[in-house]
Amino acid sequence: MKCPTCGKEMEPGLLIAESFIGGAKWVGGHDGKPEKEKLVSPDLLGNVKLLGYRCRSCRQLVLKY
Ligand SMILES: [Zn+2]
Repeated sequence: MKCPTCGKEMEPGLLIAESFIGGAKWVGGHDGKPEKEKLVSPDLLGNVKLLGYRCRSCRQLVLKY
């Protein structure tokens, strides 16, 4: 997977977030009224895992849910 910003090869991995109650939520919009949408439920240990890629050059993540 190539970085959409700089075009360099991205590194595969996982983003792990700890969220016992609500899981991972997406908050849409950078301005105005935010909309929250639940994307991924937590596992039995309260971890939310998102598969994705990161670019070390521009510190960017591309995540799948
Ligand atoms: Zn990049």
